[in-house]
Amino acid sequence: MLLINGIKLRPDEDESNLKKLIEKKLRHPISSFRIRKKSLDARKEPYYFYSVIVEIDNEEKYLSKDISIYKEEDLSPEYKERNETCIIAGYGPSGIFSAYRLCEAGYKVIVFEKGKRISEREKDVERFFKEGILNTESNVQFGEGGAGTFSDAKLTTRIKDRYIDYILDILIRHGADPKIRYENHAHIGTDKIRTVISAMTDYLIEKGVEFHFSEEIEEILLNEDRTLYGVRTSSGEYECDHFLLGVGHSAYKTVKMLKEKDVYIEKKDIAIGFRVEHPQALIDERQTGKVIEAANEYFLRYKGEKGVYSFCMCPGGMVIPAMSDINTIVTNGMSYAKRDSGIANSAILIQIFKEEFSDGYEYLQKLERRAYDYSGSYKALAQNIKDFMNNEVHELIFKSTYPLDTVLYDFNEFFSIDDLRIIKEALIDFDRKIPGFIDQGIMVGPETRSSCPIRIVRNEEYQSINTPKLYPMGEGAGYGGGIMSCALDGIRIANAIISKYE
Ligand SMILES: Cc1cc2nc3c(=O)[nH]c(=O)nc-3n(C[C@H](O)[C@H](O)[C@H](O)COP(=O)(O)OP(=O)(O)OC[C@H]3O[C@@H](n4cnc5c(N)ncnc54)[C@H](O)[C@@H]3O)c2cc1C
Repeated sequence: MLLINGIKLRPDEDESNLKKLIEKKLRHPISSFRIRKKSLDARKEPYYFYSVIVEIDNEEKYLSKDISIYKEEDLSPEYKERNETCIIAGYGPSGIFSAYRLCEAGYKVIVFEKGKRISEREKDVERFFKEGILNTESNVQFGEGGAGTFSDAKLTTRIKDRYIDYILDILIRHGADPKIRYENHAHIGTDKIRTVISAMTDYLIEKGVEFHFSEEIEEILLNEDRTLYGVRTSSGEYECDHFLLGVGHSAYKTVKMLKEKDVYIEKKDIAIGFRVEHPQALIDERQTGKVIEAANEYFLRYKGEKGVYSFCMCPGGMVIPAMSDINTIVTNGMSYAKRDSGIANSAILIQIFKEEFSDGYEYLQKLERRAYDYSGSYKALAQNIKDFMNNEVHELIFKSTYPLDTVLYDFNEFFSIDDLRIIKEALIDFDRKIPGFIDQGIMVGPETRSSCPIRIVRNEEYQSINTPKLYPMGEGAGYGGGIMSCALDGIRIANAIISKYE
């Protein structure tokens, strides 16, 4: 197989032209090809650059600066009967992909997920979005698929890892659009990711993975030397050889239990802020910041005394209530595959250093409760960005997409004086990059669950440094932030178990 780089198309050209361009480059006809990478270069006149894979005889004769031999890597683990049981707590990206890989390798895998399967979970989330009735065990954070199920399902990560393709291939095998393999900043959309994850669960059930939905890990069971030998759940006790903990950043109850068991945990920095919403047309037409894809996404960063940045941008999406605790308000963003709501949203966050709080979960919950107390309901707090800059409060310039409605609030009350100054400097900077960012935008919040305030420290064997056989993973353990990075962490843990005990 050959890998051919440097094939380019203008954004208005059809991809069906690619075959002709490849043949021109090879000076030879081809029967088919596969896109390996597609990226936009918008520095001058915009072009999409493609890398493609072609099967052809006598490969050597075509080699050049842009054309090299391509070898596909099979990263599937070797299957063996292993007679060892792995228990996995939490079925978000880290739990899903560790379960998948350990099952492929021949382990007995048991998954405990406190939430429900997606078909049931959807009903609870819908009821919350429509009626404001929150189910604390089945919501945007908890249930089959984890926290990224009601999201834009962006698959971006800054990590470079050969297992990214392995993960994408699994998603495609279970129904995701093959374009995610090569599109820069690929996203699946909440509607599609739900069916993909459900299909993966059905496949794993068929392969013998034992699933316990609506069953929560309540306690880890330790020997006298602190080696973990099992868990107590809401329904019983189970022994295991390895325990993988991927419970996400909202599992405060589980973290309290781990602290009571003296599992070594450190504090870590977090970020807080709000969502901004703008007409999508403003972002599409007037963006002069870093263009990411077809000019409808942005990524903004301001380096002041503290970092302020945009996070989890959802083009054509909606702001959603993402709380899991009663009487709190937490916003986040979600989009459907088509990204066609007409409104762009993104979190704008400021760093909070770990020295600024004693218990990160309590610090965040206090903010989330304060927002609820002000609102008196699950209506989010909202303000025009321009009014925030001028310390004023007026009717919103347009209605937020947040489904439970909003109440007017002055976000000047929300932040410390120093943070407020830095956020305002950042917004002025963002307005320079995207003119209209201040005057044409609204802010909705608070946004507090973008990262986890703790790290469950692991050793070089990926086990807790003082609790052998406990493998902390994913966002809740402080080792990932986002669907892809947490999926990769799940794979990392599975690989550590497979290679150590082979
Ligand atoms: C609304 C929203 C939108 C997002 N959008 C994106 C996006 O577009 N792209 C992106 O990359 N990232 C996105 N994220 C972040 C991403 O979803 C998370 O980083 C990722 O899901 C974390 O994976 P995880 O496996 O560590 O844990 P999680 O996905 O949080 O899953 C943890 C699971 O553990 C379960 N659990 C908790 N406690 C227990 C217990 N004691 N026993 C059993 N089960 C338990 C929970 O129910 C949950 O299902 C979004 C997050 C949210 C909330």
